Amino acid sequence: MRSFYCQKFIFIALLSFGLLFSSACGEEEQAKGGAKLDLVVMEVSEEPELVYEEEEEEVLEEAEDEGGVPMPVAASVAASVFPGLSSTAYAAGYCRSTANDTPVYTTSSLADRLGTIYALDEVYFFEIAPNASKPYAKVTYPVGTTRKTGYIHLSSLTLGNFGERIASAKASATVYRRPGEAVYGSIYVGDDVRAVAKVSGYVQVFYKAASGNRAWKIGYVTQAAYDLVKGMVVVSSWQYPMAGAYCTWKNPGNNMSWGSLEPSRSSRADKRDHHVAIDIAGSSADVVAAADGWVASVQRNNNSANGVYVVLSHSISNKTVYSFYAHLQLGSVPNNIAVGSRVDKGQKIGIMGTTAGTTSVGRHLHFSIADKADFAGYVGYVPKFSGDKVLYGNTTFYNPVFVIRNGKLP
Ligand SMILES: [Zn+2]
Repeated sequence: MRSFYCQKFIFIALLSFGLLFSSACGEEEQAKGGAKLDLVVMEVSEEPELVYEEEEEEVLEEAEDEGGVPMPVAASVAASVFPGLSSTAYAAGYCRSTANDTPVYTTSSLADRLGTIYALDEVYFFEIAPNASKPYAKVTYPVGTTRKTGYIHLSSLTLGNFGERIASAKASATVYRRPGEAVYGSIYVGDDVRAVAKVSGYVQVFYKAASGNRAWKIGYVTQAAYDLVKGMVVVSSWQYPMAGAYCTWKNPGNNMSWGSLEPSRSSRADKRDHHVAIDIAGSSADVVAAADGWVASVQRNNNSANGVYVVLSHSISNKTVYSFYAHLQLGSVPNNIAVGSRVDKGQKIGIMGTTAGTTSVGRHLHFSIADKADFAGYVGYVPKFSGDKVLYGNTTFYNPVFVIRNGKLP
């Protein structure tokens, strides 16, 4: 589970979660999109070098070619390895325990006890072996005015296997020794950052430190700060994606169409009549970004169950969410709306259309907000539910009306 920084440098790239938002609204109610998860494993090198630049670019291209939804920051598409440590280059950080009780052993077999690392001991990590029979890290730790060398169980450092790489941080962030503890350092714009584990509102990160033997540091940033580093756009201000938006099949002000029973669709055997989006039109046919964000996915042709669509990514309430704009007019998505592009709230991303079989229910925009870019299984309608959010499959859908009005998630 921690293979991303093993000695042999296995490079794991998760990519191309090719998800087509399955049918949204209109006639096409069956899920046509499918989740596709490609796992690419490449043995790169025996030596820990920064050798994965090319691979990551290929990965991104594949993801784009297949209409997938790579992370909004190009460089963060692939999970990646932790750069190598050596007898001279180390990463500095603290063990997980907040007590003076981290055991140190004399050898990597973790059998013979050498001593104990205290909570405030800054530890240098020279070697990390996640695939050893007992995963370990070779460390030095302060004892009096010198440092002792020993081995700790890797779980004393991290429980992580997250592995996402941000080759060039998009924002600076404060790094803490441990969640809620003292400031340990800073990530600066352009730094190479690896996310390791998520811990209750924090992300454990390895990041490139000053030059010299202290090659890296290990610490924690808040989830919100991590989103900024990653290039996510933290937003609280939202607007309807159409000027003068009104529900296409209910009176305005009636909570749009979220969760309401659609006009009778008796032919549908599973009664999935409750809508996890809003179907709207507006005083202008222009469709605009509901909030600042990044383009996560674009479908310019009319081959998907959702027709022409755009997906934007945002960070709100410490979560990454995706806003989804479906059934756009063919050819209406501007060229600057490309995967990885930054968009501003109110920026035009297309024109309301009738793609994907929506002609029978009328021209409209299908607009939803969800916590996954992977909308596999999403059909636009789910069985009866109440409230302003609903879990369907593994995706949580949020009532867009609530998000727009309150600037937070329900
Ligand atoms: Zn809809």
